[in-house]
Amino acid sequence: MTHPCLRCGACCATYRVAFHWLETDAAGGITPAALTEHLDPHRVAMHGTNAYEPRCKSLVGEVGVAAHCGVYEVRPSPCHDLKPAWEDGTPSPQCDKARLRHGMQPLSPADFL
Ligand code: SF4
Ligand code: SF4
Repeated sequence: MTHPCLRCGACCATYRVAFHWLETDAAGGITPAALTEHLDPHRVAMHGTNAYEPRCKSLVGEVGVAAHCGVYEVRPSPCHDLKPAWEDGTPSPQCDKARLRHGMQPLSPADFL
């Protein structure tokens, strides 16, 4: 089974990915500060996501065809927190919404068989 996320990437091209600057390597965290932009005194956002039509600049590939995170090992907490629907047996409204926005049906438990 190819993981459904590797044929998707929709969430990385739907949401603003904002997080506390302490997660960046400039403050001892792991996410490269160079991949972020200033948002407010406490938060940064992944480059490309604070836009009317967001698309993280760290997303590699084509949404809905073949896509993956180019910085997977050092991605920030919002990316850890957004779970693919039904991977662990629970729904994920954020995943569903992102897929629908990009013309894909929400995942179902069958996508993980
Ligand atoms: S929208 Fe859902 S299926 Fe698509 S990449 Fe994000 S978590 Fe994975
Ligand atoms: S850092 Fe990776 S997982 Fe997070 S939004 Fe960007 S491409 Fe997606």
